[in-house]
Amino acid sequence: MENIRQTVKRVWGYDALLPLQEEAIGAVLARRDSIVILPTGGGKSLCYQAPAAAMGKLAVVVSPLIALMKDQVDGLTTAGVPAAFLNSSLTTDERRLVEANVARGRYHLLYVAPERLVLPPCLRLLKQAGVAFFAIDEAHCISQWGHDFRPEYRQLKVVREDFPDVAIHAFTATATPRVRADIATELALREPEILVGSFDRPNLVYRVRRRTDRLQQVTEALERHRGTAGIIYCIRRAEVDQLTDALRRRGYRAVAYHAGLADAERRRAQDDFIAERADVVVATVAFGMGIDRSDVRYVIHAGMPKSIEHYQQEAGRAGRDGLPSECLLLYSGGDFGLWRSILMAEGLPAPGALPKLSEMYNYCQGAACRHRFLVNYFGQAYRTDTCGACDICLGEVAVEDGSATLARQILACVTEMGERFGADYVTDVLRGAETARIARMRHSRLDTYGVLRQYPKATVRNWIEQLEGQEYLARGEGEYPTLDVTAQGHRILRGEDAAPLLRTVGRPSREAPSRLARQAVSPGLGRTNDEDLFETLRVLRRTMAQERGIPPYLIFSDASLREMARERPTTEDAFLQIRGVGQRKLQDLGQRFLACIRKHGDGSAGDTSPAPSIARSSTKRD
Ligand code: ADP
Ligand code: ZN
Repeated sequence: MENIRQTVKRVWGYDALLPLQEEAIGAVLARRDSIVILPTGGGKSLCYQAPAAAMGKLAVVVSPLIALMKDQVDGLTTAGVPAAFLNSSLTTDERRLVEANVARGRYHLLYVAPERLVLPPCLRLLKQAGVAFFAIDEAHCISQWGHDFRPEYRQLKVVREDFPDVAIHAFTATATPRVRADIATELALREPEILVGSFDRPNLVYRVRRRTDRLQQVTEALERHRGTAGIIYCIRRAEVDQLTDALRRRGYRAVAYHAGLADAERRRAQDDFIAERADVVVATVAFGMGIDRSDVRYVIHAGMPKSIEHYQQEAGRAGRDGLPSECLLLYSGGDFGLWRSILMAEGLPAPGALPKLSEMYNYCQGAACRHRFLVNYFGQAYRTDTCGACDICLGEVAVEDGSATLARQILACVTEMGERFGADYVTDVLRGAETARIARMRHSRLDTYGVLRQYPKATVRNWIEQLEGQEYLARGEGEYPTLDVTAQGHRILRGEDAAPLLRTVGRPSREAPSRLARQAVSPGLGRTNDEDLFETLRVLRRTMAQERGIPPYLIFSDASLREMARERPTTEDAFLQIRGVGQRKLQDLGQRFLACIRKHGDGSAGDTSPAPSIARSSTKRD
């Protein structure tokens, strides 16, 4: 293990291992089969990369994502670990070269697509070369119960048959026992060590808001994250196109991504995002699987996802570098209905699809800590009272005072008028408006006329939507969208049930939640205020990435750049202390980064920056 620590420090520049990495690496060193379940961002790759680099023997990594393989290999090569991949994107010549190098024992890691691995020539080659161990990435793809079943994974059975003495290590972020059992069976694992990490992502701030004005709400959130990377998920392609256009008109560097676009367009969107030419990708769920950009600062769901599993996976693409990031979910009761009809239209919905949809909706409607809800959903206990990183715990959403009475009054008004009117009119009556229509209908004589006089129109309208969302009210079938009280709603009127109405208390501020989230994760990380130097380093990173033809995040992560901006190393030794700087990167990249930092240090004293930057520098080392 000491050897591993040294390798991790020398190659990756990390001083410590993340939770469970040591155990997972231990299983690899002990040649014992294992299943490692860690959430996105949990550091799964290091669990097989570090032992492979330390042993200096060939590890074979099976991965379903071709785009990701290239990134992983580029990342390893940049860090000085000999690695390559075999998949359909290679030309015949390229493939032959890789194969020859495999035979000569040149690589420590070889990434292979599952359909290629199981071909007899490939198996033969690997047998000749000798394999230290197999790592199966995204191992849930083997299970029909996972959210991403891939039939080609089923053929991986041959690995155990052809390499009976070589250990197999499976990695996934999907935690359900059923998927886990499938992995063990399908890969014929022998008493695998099972390691399950915590599913909480403390650096993510979760927020849920009822959708009132999509564009307005989205831009408000974007303003909290100007110039940083993010993803916006929509349910439908048309929404993707509309939102992208609207954002571009407002000056955001946004690109669209969905299955309706041509391959080339999709690839361009993805490339623009990876190369930092675009900040925002507006996408349907089709986007993200092949993206490893670790500095995604926010994920916005402009519509509700269809399950908590999907939500966890999509929102989980934020903050993989451990820095504070925001996950905002905008939903409406209509999203629930939309998904239901989509699922029904696809024929018989998969077992569990509708209950999962309801769970998702419960999450949106819920008034309990989001971190706790998510962690509990995945079968783990949550031990903190307030997470300090969700809308509920931050006090941004509260159950309305007298919520039960308010709900009853609204439902009573709807019944009193014979369920023949729409939400706007009901709102007017409840607020005691003096309109010609109310006069004509003589509705000012109703018991419920004016009972909610003291509340703003938008508030009352929103409560009606909430009651609709919780299915206490339903829209009538007729020509006009009139409101009906449902059977559940009648239970409220009889006092047998109470509906919680939520209200947004304050706007999320740019600073407060992330500071809290930051403390929750790793004090001392990201506390820099030197935005200027950070931005300068980002530009340098982009330039150097372009020169090398690799994505910027493979040069250094945001976390490393932040630390450089805070610590301002000027010597090689000091530079090597930065998390994420290993020997090879010091050699290859160190001089230019050091020069940049030194120059900034000289220049900034004489730099006549406006007041804000002086204010910033005064709190530099808090
Ligand atoms: P996963 O595959 O589980 O989603 P990754 O392997 O992509 O996670 O790692 C997530 C992030 O954590 C990466 O940016 C990686 O560089 C970083 N990381 C991994 N292990 C460590 C460690 N021991 N110390 C610091 N950062 C780490
Ligand atoms: Zn919370």
